[in-house]
Amino acid sequence: MTDSKVLVIPCSGIGKPFGTIGREATFTVVDELRPGKADTNCLSLLVMGDPDAKRQVQESLCVAVDGCPLECARKNIEIAGGRIDAHVRVMDLLRDNRGLKPRQVTFLDEDGEKLAAILAERIAEKVDDLYTGGSR
Ligand code: SF4
Repeated sequence: MTDSKVLVIPCSGIGKPFGTIGREATFTVVDELRPGKADTNCLSLLVMGDPDAKRQVQESLCVAVDGCPLECARKNIEIAGGRIDAHVRVMDLLRDNRGLKPRQVTFLDEDGEKLAAILAERIAEKVDDLYTGGSR
């Protein structure tokens, strides 16, 4: 069976503002912008080999959201047997918005909030492109 919602998985990114931006943007998409079309899950479950989390990525269209070039979300989705249907990188966003410089790590400062909002819109566009309502 195919999971009809697009699965958006952000990297964990602890200790880095870029990871926090990716997570915040994902929550905005899932809870506010595309609640009927997008879902998320914890990357750590995939890393641990949780069978339900693996099944979910294998049966879903997946958007990986990564905070740095190590691309932990993309790699772990692929290791779990999932396919990357779209890949969003916070570093690309920073290149396109050089005036915004997030500095806080544990919570987002004003620039971080702005970047998270821009990123959320990008992710929502990817979700719209991918969402089929159930067929893959
Ligand atoms: S991609 Fe970078 S920021 Fe995200 S979890 Fe991996 S090392 Fe941390």
